[in-house]
Amino acid sequence: MLAPACPGLTFEVTCAATHCIRKMLFAIFPMLPFKLVYHPRYDLNLGPHVFPSQKFRLLYELLLSEKIAGSDDIVQPGRAWDEDLLRVHTSDWVGKLKNGTLTASEIMKLEVPYSPELAEAVWLAAGGTILAGQLALRDGFASNLTGGFHHAYADHGEGFCAINDVAIAIRRLQHDKLIKKAIVVDTDVHHGNGTAHIFRNDDSVFTLSIHQQHNYPAEKPPSNLDLHLDDDVEDAEYLAILLPAVEKSLDDFRPDILFYVGGADPFCEDQLGGLRLTKSGLKSRDKGVFQLACTRNIPVATTLAGGYARHVEDTIRIHANTILAAQEAISQSPTRSRSVPTS
Ligand SMILES: [Zn+2]
Repeated sequence: MLAPACPGLTFEVTCAATHCIRKMLFAIFPMLPFKLVYHPRYDLNLGPHVFPSQKFRLLYELLLSEKIAGSDDIVQPGRAWDEDLLRVHTSDWVGKLKNGTLTASEIMKLEVPYSPELAEAVWLAAGGTILAGQLALRDGFASNLTGGFHHAYADHGEGFCAINDVAIAIRRLQHDKLIKKAIVVDTDVHHGNGTAHIFRNDDSVFTLSIHQQHNYPAEKPPSNLDLHLDDDVEDAEYLAILLPAVEKSLDDFRPDILFYVGGADPFCEDQLGGLRLTKSGLKSRDKGVFQLACTRNIPVATTLAGGYARHVEDTIRIHANTILAAQEAISQSPTRSRSVPTS
């Protein structure tokens, strides 16, 4: 093959053409360059509750109805194995969740009613985050349309989080020797206390949490990097604090995968948050983190975490924008592909 007379120009023309073709194909056959992980039984069965547990289904339906994703983009997970949970959680806590034998004080701390459907949903969420991690290693990116239950500790649940799906997924990928090091970038408005505590003595996992300082949880075990924000922080200040911190953490730690806890609750109209980010700012947050990972060839697996906007449609839109942000970040980066088996 003859070398092109102007390789740089040829590359740019080829990239532009590929991008155009991808856009045209997507208009005809909607397909994302990565998989979304979803199960109809993700619903936590909470009934009327500030946590809108119908949001998982609503997000799934919005992504399909707006042709952001096609049905071929969706992968259904199985339940995590008990041994997956037991790499993170105590057998006592796993047994209580399986058998429905939580004490009244444990349910009070969990802040959601226990039901067999809740247990089923969190086992599926953990399976989904494991699968998202596996798919991210294969495709460069994957998104679980639930999860991010970052308040769950090894031996108890807190703040709507019964089990810590991200920790479970990291431990499973390490157990399968698919990764050595992982970073957790937690952008929920509330501190990632459970995740920080679980990995407090583990040099193989770097935890980064950006959150409102004067908000739940009262006790904040230190992450590797905590970005404590004052009340009412807006888009520009937030991004100026978060993105350089993520960039330095990626360069210093050089993880094999990034787990993204993409909370919708830094939104200015959130009922449980006190920051003032806009939807546009939140999408810039997501895209900025994904671009930093993309340019370093670090796979990204995302989870949803919290979102309590007065209008649930806002929460759903913010989560949907995370998928669009990923699509944009990936389309502006070189294609990446890895091959690992999935289960
Ligand atoms: Zn939250």
